[in-house]
Amino acid sequence: MKNILVLHTGGTIAMHADADGDVETGPDNPLNQADFSLPDVQLTVENIFNLPSEYIGPEHMLQIQQRILAAQGQVDGVVITHGTDTLEETAYFLDNTLDVDFPIAMTGAMRSANELGSDGLYNYQTALRVAADDQSANRGVLVVMNDEIHAARFVTKTHTTNVATFASPVSGTMGLITKRRIIYLYDLVPGKTFPIQAVSKNIPVLKAYAGMNGQLLELLAATGIDGLVIEALGAGNLGQEAALGVQHLLNRQIPVVIVSRSFNGIAEPVYDYLGGGTQLEKAGAIFAASINGQKARLKLLIGLENHLNKAALNDYLHQF
Ligand code: ASP
Repeated sequence: MKNILVLHTGGTIAMHADADGDVETGPDNPLNQADFSLPDVQLTVENIFNLPSEYIGPEHMLQIQQRILAAQGQVDGVVITHGTDTLEETAYFLDNTLDVDFPIAMTGAMRSANELGSDGLYNYQTALRVAADDQSANRGVLVVMNDEIHAARFVTKTHTTNVATFASPVSGTMGLITKRRIIYLYDLVPGKTFPIQAVSKNIPVLKAYAGMNGQLLELLAATGIDGLVIEALGAGNLGQEAALGVQHLLNRQIPVVIVSRSFNGIAEPVYDYLGGGTQLEKAGAIFAASINGQKARLKLLIGLENHLNKAALNDYLHQF
């Protein structure tokens, strides 16, 4: 018998549509009525939150992380249901802060409980199957949606409404779910994890654009932020004025992490002119290779909360 801990946190999977088709949260999560008889699986279900995922922040992620740590030794797997808008962020936070040997599968839905073609119950059931499968252990946090399994490290929400919204542009889908099988297509080298007790750092994300100047960067430096992530252009470049703004932050010992605003590929220093990636790196900016801005922000937060020095922070953010 497998003991699976289910943590419901809210999101569309826990919502319903009203008579006008507007989607809203009700007093009871419809998933609490779900009655699955999966062979040899016993569920412990907790409604840890009932929030749209836009309301979920690092404090909630920490609470989920601590609940999972407390369950060690008592569970064989965990399923977390979550709104899809920030699901990848909670998945990534847990992936970077939990070192457990049982599977953790996250899922959500693009259509609420009573909408035509609702995908919630189906995704919930497949996430339970994944979490109860021995093959799913030691793969990091998994995102299970639409018959696919994605690694938290690479997954992102790519479409506003399509049920096939989750994809892993850099690595491809990690696994497939069929009626009778769960198939993993590749293994990942385990990533480094860090413990975490606090999530107090203030780290905004800025997106670069043609004509970006340094004004906003200087204003942010004056507000006392703890770090900044910039979704830079292409392989990780900025214009001259924005580069001077980055220098302004670095002169004040505020770490600046560079990722790409392109949703696929690896950010790395290539161009050697003011604002080019090579010069940004020489000036002290840190390149985070394959992750997007929202994930880089969490990684920087975890690194800073663990008091990593500049070199260690650099290594951690560089790591895939
Ligand atoms: N706005 C919703 C949420 O993230 C979207 C969803 O769950 O699909 O809570």
